[in-house]
Amino acid sequence: MTDASPDTAADTDAGTGERDHDCPYCDRVFARADYRDLHLGLEHENLTDAEQAAFADAREAEEEALTIFRYKALGLLVVAYFLFLMAYAASL
Ligand SMILES: [Zn+2]
Repeated sequence: MTDASPDTAADTDAGTGERDHDCPYCDRVFARADYRDLHLGLEHENLTDAEQAAFADAREAEEEALTIFRYKALGLLVVAYFLFLMAYAASL
């Protein structure tokens, strides 16, 4: 029995810095904590309450970011449509 902390976070401080977003159930490493939380909720079952809450928060943030992206994409399409319409009208 070792009294040191598990190898989840102790050996990652000195070298790479951002390596503390490992999945605790498989060996995948994520660049951001919310990516890991989304992976946990989608790929693994029997999560702890904290992991389920983190997944719900990450999913809500992801859906909000997707909604903003969709509005931006729609706005860009509308602008492109009117630019082509004006170019067509000017060419007549
Ligand atoms: Zn995993």
